[in-house]
Amino acid sequence: MTYYRDKSKRCMTASGPHVRAIGWLDKKHRFRKGRTSLEFREKLRKFSESASSSTFSLGWGVFFGHHTCELCEKFSSGLNFGVPAGEILYVAPEMVSHYVENHRYRPPKEFVKAVLDSPLPDTREYSDAIARFRRPDDQPAGYGTEGYDPAQAGDSSQVTSARTEANGVWNKILRILSRS
Ligand SMILES: [Zn+2]
Repeated sequence: MTYYRDKSKRCMTASGPHVRAIGWLDKKHRFRKGRTSLEFREKLRKFSESASSSTFSLGWGVFFGHHTCELCEKFSSGLNFGVPAGEILYVAPEMVSHYVENHRYRPPKEFVKAVLDSPLPDTREYSDAIARFRRPDDQPAGYGTEGYDPAQAGDSSQVTSARTEANGVWNKILRILSRS
C-alpha cells in the first residue's frame, strides 16, 4: 500500500485542506504503537465493515485492487472510508482496523475521538455529516449552492429512497469485487 504520513492532507482516495489521512502504513515507515480502548476498536471495526457504504456516500472512485498488509502479508482489503469531524474528514483504508487489532497501531488521539463521535456509514446522520465532502459530480442539482431549497429540487424522499436502494446494490458489487 502507498504510504502516507498520519494527518497528511492527501492520500490515494482524497486530498484537500479538509483531508487527514490515517493509517496508510507500510513496513518501511515506523508507526506509533500502543493500547487502544475496546470501545474504539469495536467502533473502528464497524467503520471498516461499512467501507463500501462510506465510499459510495462520499462519491469516491473505487480502486479495483487489493492492499495486502505489508506487516504480516496475511490480510488484504481494497476499500477506504471517511470519518467526518466538523470541517475535517479523516480518510483511512479499510485495513486500519486490522492494523490496530493485529499490529497494535495506535492512531492519533483526534482520530480516535472522531471515530467514537461519528455516526456510522449507512445512517442518515452520516450522510448529513459528510455532505460537504461529497464529490461534486455525485450531488443532486443545486446541492451545496447558496440559497439551495430542497423543496425546489423535487421530491427529496424519492431521491433518498432511490439513493438508499442504489447504495444497497453498490455495496453488494463492492463486496464481491473486494473478495475476488
Ligand atoms: Zn497484518
